Amino acid sequence: MTVMEKDQAYVAHTYKRFPVEIISGKGSLVIDTQGKEYIDLGSGIAVTSFGVSDPVWIGAVEAQLHKVQHMSNLYYTAPCADLAEALCSRTGFSRVFFSNSGAEANECAIKVARKWAAEHHGPACSSIVTLEGSFHGRTLTTLAATGQDHFHELFQPLTPGFSHIRAGDMASLEKLCADGNVAAVMIECIQGEGGVIPLEPSFAAALQRFVEEQDILLLVDEVQTGNGRTGSLYAFTQFGLKPDVISTAKGLAGGLPLGATLLSSKVADVLSWGDHGSTFGGNPVACAGALSVLNRLTPDLLSEVARKGEWLKQRFTGAPGIQSVTGLGLMLGLQTVRPAAEVVADCMAKGVLCLTAKGKVRLLPALNIPDALLEKAADVILDCVKPS
Ligand SMILES: *Cc1c(COP(=O)(O)O)cnc(C)c1O
Repeated sequence: MTVMEKDQAYVAHTYKRFPVEIISGKGSLVIDTQGKEYIDLGSGIAVTSFGVSDPVWIGAVEAQLHKVQHMSNLYYTAPCADLAEALCSRTGFSRVFFSNSGAEANECAIKVARKWAAEHHGPACSSIVTLEGSFHGRTLTTLAATGQDHFHELFQPLTPGFSHIRAGDMASLEKLCADGNVAAVMIECIQGEGGVIPLEPSFAAALQRFVEEQDILLLVDEVQTGNGRTGSLYAFTQFGLKPDVISTAKGLAGGLPLGATLLSSKVADVLSWGDHGSTFGGNPVACAGALSVLNRLTPDLLSEVARKGEWLKQRFTGAPGIQSVTGLGLMLGLQTVRPAAEVVADCMAKGVLCLTAKGKVRLLPALNIPDALLEKAADVILDCVKPS
């Protein structure tokens, strides 16, 4: 059996894979079994922050592997403590809960919000409001949070207590909050899976004012937008938001499973021992990888991400076959005249890996992608989006 046949036979059919088997790579270049090289503009969906088999990252991960690969959370390990300290000192948040994925990071945020609200506003105050078109994960609770009905249909009943409003619709939010039972609002600064759609600055400002007035918690899902992706360490700083909790994962550990829920001083002590946990959460190897990623997210690197993003935006805006360009930094969405899936297939044939998000072509290259590769990939995309 070939790898593709074996995978088809034995792996659950939840993913529509391209007929490509990647065997190795270096930075933003990956190679398939045929020896064909691709410029990777997907980074494993914003995961491989510094590309594939990056030597600095390998060094950090390997050094930890030789010490201890895992200890239970009954004991202290340095990478976990060091990473939590670094995350807090870089962001102003007070404590971190570590898990293994974006969905789990959001689950923790939701648990914190519910416990905090019950303690401060009574047990009926448990609802969470999210936005239409959002994506918050695949567990039953984060699916309930996800504001896209088609994800819900097959898995009823979902966790109760979630409602969704259209972005910008403050009137609906005010109505939902009128009974005093809304514990938190959860948002993405830029909806990723939903089509690379940024929050309107005026809505972000109105939302921030409203949650402060009402003493409702603001949870920002930075699973995709975090860790330098948009040109700042976390995207909320570019939207004037002051979240009580942020959740992140994807690029955090540069290619190892790690989720983090960052708690502001307001909610830092909501969870006490026994309230939450994760066997693998804070795994020393994943944390060592994350610490190495975080240490490289310097102001210079972040401004390079912003510069590359602006360059791509300018290159694509108004080009034949491109109707709009959205996003920030190296998280961009292209509305194309041709169907996005066809553009992505043609780009792949020409050696460039892109993603889709809803009807758009989505680009999430490594944060350190060299200009020369970005220019080459942009030329291929411009060629593939031209309506025939
Ligand atoms: C990917 C994603 C998630 C889910 O992350 P997993 O690691 O797949 O559980 C949640 N929220 C956002 C915004 C995401 O992009």
